[in-house]
Amino acid sequence: GPLGSPEFPGEFYIPPEPSNDAIEIFSSGIASGIHFSKYNNIPVKVTGSDVPQPIQHFTSADLRDIIIDNVNKSGYKIPTPIQKCSIPVISSGRDLMACAQTGSGKTAAFLLPILSKLLEDPHELELGRPQVVIVSPTRELAIQIFNEARKFAFESYLKIGIVYGGTSFRHQNECITRGCHVVIATPGRLLDFVDRTFITFEDTRFVVLDEADRMLDMGFSEDMRRIMTHVTMRPEHQTLMFSATFPEEIQRMAGEFLKNYVFVAIGIVGGACSDVKQTIYEVNKYAKRSKLIEILSEQADGTIVFVETKRGADFLASFLSEKEFPTTSIHGDRLQSQREQALRDFKNGSMKVLIATSVASRGLDIKNIKHVINYDMPSKIDDYVHRIGRTGRVGNNGRATSFFDPEKDRAIAADLVKILEGSGQTVPDFLRTC
Ligand code: AMP
Repeated sequence: GPLGSPEFPGEFYIPPEPSNDAIEIFSSGIASGIHFSKYNNIPVKVTGSDVPQPIQHFTSADLRDIIIDNVNKSGYKIPTPIQKCSIPVISSGRDLMACAQTGSGKTAAFLLPILSKLLEDPHELELGRPQVVIVSPTRELAIQIFNEARKFAFESYLKIGIVYGGTSFRHQNECITRGCHVVIATPGRLLDFVDRTFITFEDTRFVVLDEADRMLDMGFSEDMRRIMTHVTMRPEHQTLMFSATFPEEIQRMAGEFLKNYVFVAIGIVGGACSDVKQTIYEVNKYAKRSKLIEILSEQADGTIVFVETKRGADFLASFLSEKEFPTTSIHGDRLQSQREQALRDFKNGSMKVLIATSVASRGLDIKNIKHVINYDMPSKIDDYVHRIGRTGRVGNNGRATSFFDPEKDRAIAADLVKILEGSGQTVPDFLRTC
């Protein structure tokens, strides 16, 4: 279709320029909380041949000074367990499959050693030939990783780029053709660039799959296969996969793309973060709205409410706005500009409540999320784990409340009981008997 037609609603959207202000760049992260030191008690499982020893301090990780400076400016004092294990593995040139609970620092676990390696062993930068390709399942998560990469690369010469759908192709192309060491991308838009030969992988030294199980799941697996096995892909690249959940059948498929890799699991793969206090209410579909109002009337600030459908999200957002709760929404039918605006409004507190579909379930690291509400239960338990993991990050307390409709949600009950038990929560009787 022609550019600008309704089929390409985002064709002209040019995202705002990212900030260059150091204070803004370094204030994006969440400060670690009172449970941070308990991370040390989580059991660690590592397999693979000749696994490099974990590091205990950022300064013993052979990271470049400029990277250490940026770690300090970010307020990180001690590496999290996934960082302790992954940084030496990546620095030593190995492939990696890494699993660790939500909010435990996976992004820095791959960014720090990669950026440090680029500085330590520089290769000449060619236009359209990224040296690092990081893929993410959602546009907003790509933006977040982009900002993290800019933060850890601050005051270095490394160039960080981003390509994602729903935005002006021409604008992103101009950014990419300026040359980028690191490209963060959503798979569809990345392949658009690859198919038009604006991006090739001859110089690619690292391929990172964030939310790897999602990237290899139906919907993305064909795109990912095309990227990872692309004819231009530099044979000597390292492949790194990270997630909080990793079903075994997907781990097997992931293994096909990894060579002599190290496997690291911090805690139970697919387990929920135990710093989130989880409450499950038995609520049928007619009672959900009044239950939600009751909860929000006590405390609405920083609440993300997950619903099943895009229509449901719109409906609930207008309903809450009428009830005088400043509410916005994010889902796949909104324009990209609206999606980004919604997140900005929620982050800066001008909107107290964010209604979301599962597009916002993974990876997003937002300071003021105090409470996650599952207005509709997800159909898969891993999705539940990711959703409630929007809170209780880096050792902070979090709170999640879920509406369990026995008519509809019976199929997830047994898995939910396991997750509650595994994260030290009380299991309500109705869940065991339903
Ligand atoms: P992530 O799981 O990568 O989304 O990180 C979750 C949050 O933890 C982010 O806000 C990071 O800025 C923060 N973080 C990551 N690593 C550390 C660390 N070693 N010390 C303190 N905070 C950290």
